[in-house]
Amino acid sequence: MSDALARLKEVSAFSEDAGEIAAHTEEWRGTWHGRTPLLLKPATTEEVSRILAICNETATPIVPQGGNTGLVGGQIPLGGEVLLSLARLNRIRSVDAVGANLIAEAGTVLANVHESADGAGLVFPLSLASEGSCTIGGNLSTNAGGVNVLRYGMARELVLGLEVVLADGRVLEMLRTLRKDNTGYDLKQLFIGAEGTLGVITAAALKLFPKVRDAQTALIAVASPADALALLARLQAATNGGLTAFELIPRFGLELVLAHIPGTRDPFGAAHPWYVLAEGPPFAEALGDAEAVLAASEAQRKALWRLRESLSEAQKKEGPSLKHDIAVPVAAIPDFIARATPAVRALVPEARPVSFGHLGDGNLHFNFNVPDLSRREAVARAVHDIVRDFHGSFSAEHGIGAMKREELVRYKSAAELEVMRALKRTLDPGNILNPGKVV
Ligand code: FAD
Repeated sequence: MSDALARLKEVSAFSEDAGEIAAHTEEWRGTWHGRTPLLLKPATTEEVSRILAICNETATPIVPQGGNTGLVGGQIPLGGEVLLSLARLNRIRSVDAVGANLIAEAGTVLANVHESADGAGLVFPLSLASEGSCTIGGNLSTNAGGVNVLRYGMARELVLGLEVVLADGRVLEMLRTLRKDNTGYDLKQLFIGAEGTLGVITAAALKLFPKVRDAQTALIAVASPADALALLARLQAATNGGLTAFELIPRFGLELVLAHIPGTRDPFGAAHPWYVLAEGPPFAEALGDAEAVLAASEAQRKALWRLRESLSEAQKKEGPSLKHDIAVPVAAIPDFIARATPAVRALVPEARPVSFGHLGDGNLHFNFNVPDLSRREAVARAVHDIVRDFHGSFSAEHGIGAMKREELVRYKSAAELEVMRALKRTLDPGNILNPGKVV
């Protein structure tokens, strides 16, 4: 390996400094701890190509990393692999206001993509609480979801073209900005959601959208998840299906935010069992007699969103938690909560539920604060088995990484697994790209 490392160091900027490397080998939640002999910091696609060619030739495993905000350990070098940071590939190559697209390099921070779109009078709608640190390459490699999926879809639906470096160093140049292109297999989609196991994304052509005019944001009190779904139908009807976000928050979740996040306050005078944070074209008239707080300024809008976006951090500050990133058909959410909550409590009687998330698209962060993590696997098994009964997904938006490989084997069909493994063998025969992740 030392021979390979010496060759790699000739290709691009790098670091062997323990202090600098430490920030790249620990994950945000502190669940995964990695180690690497070398952090590579290429600044061009050409450098990435030469790096992968050397890794392939010398059978040197390598882990791609963007902003290191992934939640399933995919970006962490758990087996002492070389670490490939894309952070310096961070140029916006072009912005086309008429064609409504922009081309960004993989290491561009999502918030900077938003800024460039805004500069053209448009929006790039992918929006996550980690947007100040996560990168577009990481967003596409995890097929990120976030709060606007309801209207705009997951990350893969926002992509027109990609530039990808294959395991052997060849560059797949697919950076087209076409809306229509039926010329055989849509290869770019293979690399979206592949978590760095099939190739390294170096740039992407992204779709931009017009800004929503006169958008409203409201926190609305509801009695139950079923009432929240009835409200969803009402607001979608009132906005021609135009809602951009519809997020569920339980009372206990709000209490955790109020307790742990400085500067937050309860916008209501009294406590309510559940809340919905809704955003989209004007919908206030359709709220009827529902108790709601409507944002009257950008500052108030931000304050409402802060309550939602601080839930993960507040949960972390409260202590250990069991987390499940699940999806079930939207209409089944109330039944799922009603069945899965007692199933968790039967295993951990002290578990306190904090189920929140993207109700509008059927994705719940079905989480529990618990005294300790000793029953983690048993609880995950119980929850995911119920998810299967509802024809749902055990990983709606965070991916597989290192964390959910056993689940993949348990819940995917043998035929699906075989096709996934065949793709991996074809595109990365030497198994150098992010080994031990996904498949
Ligand atoms: P990283 O964490 O660096 O990498 C993630 C995966 O992609 C790894 O497998 C890595 O190997 C691979 N990868 C990274 N860059 C490349 C590349 N250029 N080419 C090939 N492979 C690559 N996720 C959601 O979907 N929705 C949410 O609402 C959401 N909210 C979050 C809130 C918080 C507070 C945090 C901390 C995370 C949240 N996430 C969410 C998870 C995370 O932010 C996303 O998965 C994000 O897309 C990861 O981007 P990143 O640049 O940090 O990637």
